[in-house]
Amino acid sequence: MTTGRHFLQIPGPSPVPERVMRAMDMPVLDHRGPEFQRLGQEVLEGCKAVFQTRGPVVVYPSSGTGAWESAIVNTLNVGDKVLMVETGHFATLWKNMATKLGLEVEFISGDWRRGVNPEAIGARLAEDKELKIKAVAVVHNETSTGVTSRIAEIRRAIDGANHPALLLVDTISSLGSAEYKHEEWGVDVTVSCSQKGLMLPPGLGFTAISEKALAASRSNNMRRSYWDWEEMLKPNATGFFPYTPATTLLYGLKEAIAMLLEEGLSNVFDRHKRLAAATRSAVQAWGLEILCQEPLEYSPVLTAVVMPEGHDADAYRKVVLENFNMSLGAGLSKLAGKVFRIGHLGECNELTLMGALSGVEMGLTLADVPHQTGGAAAAMRALLDSAAR
Ligand code: PLP
Repeated sequence: MTTGRHFLQIPGPSPVPERVMRAMDMPVLDHRGPEFQRLGQEVLEGCKAVFQTRGPVVVYPSSGTGAWESAIVNTLNVGDKVLMVETGHFATLWKNMATKLGLEVEFISGDWRRGVNPEAIGARLAEDKELKIKAVAVVHNETSTGVTSRIAEIRRAIDGANHPALLLVDTISSLGSAEYKHEEWGVDVTVSCSQKGLMLPPGLGFTAISEKALAASRSNNMRRSYWDWEEMLKPNATGFFPYTPATTLLYGLKEAIAMLLEEGLSNVFDRHKRLAAATRSAVQAWGLEILCQEPLEYSPVLTAVVMPEGHDADAYRKVVLENFNMSLGAGLSKLAGKVFRIGHLGECNELTLMGALSGVEMGLTLADVPHQTGGAAAAMRALLDSAAR
């Protein structure tokens, strides 16, 4: 038996705020009627503000994986060469999907502790004199490692090489949490989903589309039906969808967008940065290692912590769950058992974080993981130092 609320401190799905829950407590409505039309128009417009674009954003009833597929099948052809980077588990899964869909993927290898090296992208594109590479596809926030890649610098590297490749970016765990500017950063397709920074339940996938990506979708011939942008954009122009949309989730999306815009996107991003910095202070005070090795690439969304040699991160997470009713993120694929991940995204605030870090610290003691005490206290000091006075 547990009392009180469950602490869902995984890097998504993130907790759904009560305000969003209440907004979804609505009867299901006719998705071809006037009330839906208003909702459809409002959310499709609101999404543009969150992605920071004036172009179209397509909303699918899907998980993020569906939106990955949409980005590929709309813009590329079977046999096209794409450049991807092994930043971690999710970059590897997207690469596997691209390969299955018939693309020729050049995968720059990585050690899962750093983000995309913009210079390496620029250098590879500069060598591609015959312009064989049709797209660069990268993950903005690698959820498996807690490393955020520098998308604006990647764009500059592509431009510096004077190369026409499309830029496809996965913001599945960064949108609404880490600074992101689809249009200003010259991204062609931004992929995202509902259950992380947007603070919604799982079930919506998004693609924000540049004019260049839209033009590519009109001239390419990869087979697609459900994911076809053209089919979606026609009814979207009047607020409708070509098939039954996830109506209830769209009520939640409208509320979540309102919450993000009320707080102000830059304040949302600053809050995430402050919480992340406080978390790192805690990890450093415990004497544990942060997986991310490049301070410029520390994730504002989550922190992955390396377990000391000889200790199993999953056994530790079990102790935390059973004693403190808190879920921490597991290490994925090659990091299984080696790291645990602390999510600090979405509606997380100072006191939520302090509850979480207290649970992490007490769990370290209960699970006999070697560490120094004082991490939670260090996080409090960091939060005080960064508080607006
Ligand atoms: N990309 C990233 C960066 C993710 O974190 C995830 C899921 O956590 C995915 C892709 C896959 O998204 P989904 O599980 O919603 O299909």
